[in-house]
Amino acid sequence: MSRIFNAVKRIALVAHDNMKDELIDWAYFNREALSKHTLFATGTTGTLLETSLKQPISKFLSGPLGGDQQIGASIAEGKLDVLIFFWDPMEAQPHDPDIKALLRVAATWNIPTACNRSTADFMLTSPLMYTEYQPALPDYSAYINRKTLR
Ligand code: PGA
Repeated sequence: MSRIFNAVKRIALVAHDNMKDELIDWAYFNREALSKHTLFATGTTGTLLETSLKQPISKFLSGPLGGDQQIGASIAEGKLDVLIFFWDPMEAQPHDPDIKALLRVAATWNIPTACNRSTADFMLTSPLMYTEYQPALPDYSAYINRKTLR
């Protein structure tokens, strides 16, 4: 099982309500770099980003209505390469299970994941953001075979 991230990355952006200002501020500061990639976001985050960046953004449902799960499913299907997820460390969310599931799927598929602004800065300034990249993946076929042989 292998995957390739193209030079143009498919980036998903999500911010909880208390983190939206920070994500919008970060994204506006980095608007030129972000314009080189294809952007996706949960509903409300996407609407705010679109207004600020003047760049089209493919929007999923709002996070609490299933948007986090849609992003997780897209990662599993190999349709997203990078996750920028400013989750709120100070407040529980009604969709906490979805948040955990999204972070788990991002780790499973070894996609670059930034959960705060400094990591997002380091990520966006990496030369790998602008070249093809093959993420190392565990050999999940052994896991699948073990399950089917049970
Ligand atoms: P939102 O969803 O962008 O629709 O606010 C984000 C979230 O809370 O997961």
